[in-house]
Formats: sequence, C-alpha cells, structure tokens
Amino acid sequence: MSITSAQRPDVQEPWRQEPMRPAVRRLARPRPSRTRTGDLLAVAGFIVVVTLGIWWQHGGLTGLLAGGVSTLSGIGQVFGLIAALAALGGLVLTSRPRFIERRYGQDSLLAAHRWFGITTVLALLVHAVADTWAWGAATGGTIVTGLVDLLANQAWMVAATAGTVLMIVIGLSSWRRLRQRIPYETWYFVHLTGYLAVLLGFGHQLTLGADFATDTFAFWWWSALFIATAVFIMYARIGDLLRSLTRRIYVTAVSREANGIGSLHVSGPGLRRMRVAGGQYFNVRVMTRDLWWQAHPFSVSAAPTTSGIRFTIKELGEDSTSILRARPGTRVVLEGPYGVFTVEQAGGAPVVLVAGGVGISPIRALLEDCTPQQRPIVIVRVRDERDVAHRQELERMVEARNGVLHVLAGRREWFTRNDPFSPDILRTSIPDIAGRHVFVCGPASLESAVMTGMRKAGVPTRNIHHERFGV
Ligand SMILES: Cc1cc2nc3c(=O)[nH]c(=O)nc-3n(C[C@H](O)[C@H](O)[C@H](O)COP(=O)(O)OP(=O)(O)OC[C@H]3O[C@@H](n4cnc5c(N)ncnc54)[C@H](O)[C@@H]3O)c2cc1C
Repeated sequence: MSITSAQRPDVQEPWRQEPMRPAVRRLARPRPSRTRTGDLLAVAGFIVVVTLGIWWQHGGLTGLLAGGVSTLSGIGQVFGLIAALAALGGLVLTSRPRFIERRYGQDSLLAAHRWFGITTVLALLVHAVADTWAWGAATGGTIVTGLVDLLANQAWMVAATAGTVLMIVIGLSSWRRLRQRIPYETWYFVHLTGYLAVLLGFGHQLTLGADFATDTFAFWWWSALFIATAVFIMYARIGDLLRSLTRRIYVTAVSREANGIGSLHVSGPGLRRMRVAGGQYFNVRVMTRDLWWQAHPFSVSAAPTTSGIRFTIKELGEDSTSILRARPGTRVVLEGPYGVFTVEQAGGAPVVLVAGGVGISPIRALLEDCTPQQRPIVIVRVRDERDVAHRQELERMVEARNGVLHVLAGRREWFTRNDPFSPDILRTSIPDIAGRHVFVCGPASLESAVMTGMRKAGVPTRNIHHERFGV
C-alpha cells in the first residue's frame, strides 16, 4: 500500500501550503543628509554677489550716494533686487527640496521661509515707495503722479502693482494675530498666490530695471535665476507629489486610543521602498470626495513596517474627525516623510522624551527607536489619565529600554503653580539631565516651558529638539 503525503507529515506538498507571506520588516531609515550649510551659503552668497555686482557696475552705488532723486532711485533699485532675491529664496525654501529638508527639517525651513517672506514684503514696500517717488520727482510731480504715469505708460507696471498688492496680502495673512483667525485652508490658498505675485513682478524688472534693460549678460543672469528657481520648485514639489501619487497605499483600519484620539492604520505595496524613521511625519491625503483636496501633516506613531504605518490623530477640527471615519480600502496619498525629529539627533546619548496630548504620536515612535543604553525618561502631560494614548505600549517599551514613564495628569492651573519643568525639580528628579538629549512635542506653551526649564537645568540648547504641530 502506498502512503500519501497527507498521511505523512514529513512530506511537503507545496500546492497545499498557505501562500508564503513575506516577512514583516521595519522600513529602512532615511539616508543621512550630505548637504553642508557652507555649500548652501556659498551658492546663496554667489547669487547675491553677482547680482549686486551688476548693480554696482551699472553705477548703482554712485547713484545711491549722489543725493536727491538719484539717491531715492538708488534705494528703490537696491531694495527691488533684495525683494526679488528674498522672494526667490523663500519659494525655494518652501518647496521642500529633499536634500535640504533632510538636513534641517521642514519646520526650520518654514521658519527661514517666514524671515525671507518678511524681508520680501518690507523690501518691496521700500522699493515701491522710493521708485515711484523718484519717478514722480524726475518729471516734476509727486509720488501720486509718478504712480499714475507708471501705471498708464510703462509696460508690466499694472502686473507689478498687482504682484505687490498680492505680496502684501500674503504678508498680512501670515501675521500671527490674523493667521490665527483665518481657516488654515484659506491661509494656504492665499499663500499659494505667492508664485503668481513673483511672476507678475518679473516683466517690469526686465523692461524698467536699469540693470537688466540694457545689459545682455544681466538680462540672461536675471532670467536664468527665475528659470532655475521655477525648475527647482517643479522638481522638488511636483516630483514629491508624483512620487506620492504612484504609491499604492490604503486605509486598513481605524482604532480608538483615548478621549478624542484615534489611529489611522494604512498599508499597501507602496510602502515597501519607503525610508521612514520614528518621529517623522507625512502630509496625509485621504482620497474621499470631501478630503482629497487637502493634505494634513501627521507623525507616524509606531515604527513603520512593510505591513503598515500608524498615525495617531486628535479630533481637533472637522477634517481630522472625518479622517478618522475613513473606511478600510480608502486610498491614501502620503507625501513625505519629512522632519529630522528622529533618534539620530541624540547620537546614542540618554534621552528625555516629553509629550503633551497628541504630541505622544512622534514621541511614541521615537521611544521605539531608542536603545536600552539610552534609558529613556518619558514624561506625558495630559489633562486626564484617560487622555494618554498607547499607554500600555509606552509602559512595555519603557521597561524594555531601562526607562521610566511619568504621567502628569491634571489641570493647567495646578501645573502653573507647581511647575514640573522648573530647573530645580528637573535636576533633582533627573540627576544626569545635563548629559541627556531632550525631545519635546506638544502645545506651544508646554514646549516653551520644557525648553526653558531644560536649558536652565543645564541641557545645551543644541541638545533640545522639538516638533511643532502648527504653522
Ligand atoms: C509636523 C506636524 C506633525 C503633526 N502631527 C500630528 C499628529 O501626529 N497627530 C495629530 O493629531 N496632529 C498632528 N499635527 C497637527 C495636525 O496636522 C492638525 O491638527 C490637523 O491638520 C488639524 O486639521 P483640522 O482641519 O481637523 O483642524 P482645524 O481646526 O482646521 O485646524 C486646527 C489647527 O491645525 C492647523 N492645520 C489645519 N490643517 C493643517 C494642515 N494641512 N497643515 C498644517 N496645519 C494645519 C491649523 O492651522 C490649526 O492651528 C501635526 C502638525 C504638524 C505641523
């Protein structure tokens, strides 16, 4: 009698076996950035020196020092150049070029973009007033007659004026007091018109700009700067968007974590080739009829693996609430990852991780990347014990890494009177505090209290890292 393989456990029948599931593995970490600050400053310096060199060669400095209308016109010219260069620099910074973003992080780029924006608007105002005034004075009139004459008789001046008005509106909409009153989406779309504003100003620079109208080299230098900026932005922004659109990633589940906090779990073949570290974030676009047109930044809240990424999300407004209602199978577009809020910043040193509310999201993922040698001290600040998301995971991971978890629950008023981040309390409760790196993520007030306390307790500023959840 022959014996069938079904009766013989040692005989394998491949066709009867479950299809092989590829092993789940941690996604690779992003490659370290090779960008050097010196190189970037050299490129920026070269552009500024050549541009000002052209201005100087055309007698810009002599005119500036000549007095009267010439001085006014010289001020207008030089501030026009400053405004244009700052605007181009600002656009480059906000286009999230990977090789720069990986080095400094998106929030530093946005902070720098803000300064470039302020410079652009202020320089533009000086340029517009000085040049219009000089134009009016040169024809024996006033600033008003100068403006009327420019608008009526000079090519591209209507466009340039529209661009200036747009820039001022963008500047005003970013003024913190106004920014907090307008919905994020309105602010964002107003901000997008910055590209148009820069473009509208370009024509009058070539036709009226004393430096570019008559000098072929200067004309091509200036045109090349604008073309190079446009190509750079398209490469960085559209490249990122296209890459994200080609990755197939879907919602796999939504889970409840704590009061008003849930998790969005996503997965798909698109994850396999991604490089992500705990603490980084993606701009998440959930492709439903209501949500596809907007992307919201969310940090990964667990070590990303080939089987999925988890985002822990607080139901703050309409969109975050709707995102947590997405059905399994819904397509998700992930742009990123972005940010340098990763464990690499600590270079293996012991760490203190501080989270406020949903700031637990990147802190939880960072904790997973810590080693037992880093003995992580995790401090979670919440109003109510029930607000701590992923508590069991935190306890398990802290224990496995020789760390400690402190939950500070209570109302803000109590903590104001008994500040847990006062230097004395920090030094007493964490004796080796000065040798630790600190990672903090939470509301701005918590972040600043932690950063001030840590600095006073002896932690060097460069060892304090924070992720800002606002713009
Ligand atoms: C780098 C980063 C990482 C973040 N990680 C997380 C996270 O892991 N979990 C979490 O719950 N939240 C996170 N946030 C905050 C989250 O993006 C906002 O709470 C969310 O976008 C709110 O959207 P909403 O329309 O529901 O709320 P709204 O009431 O419309 O907005 C609430 C606040 O979020 C800001 N906001 C709204 N839309 C955006 C947007 N597209 N981009 C930037 N800010 C926006 C608004 O300016 C406002 O201050 C992160 C933010 C940043 C900048």
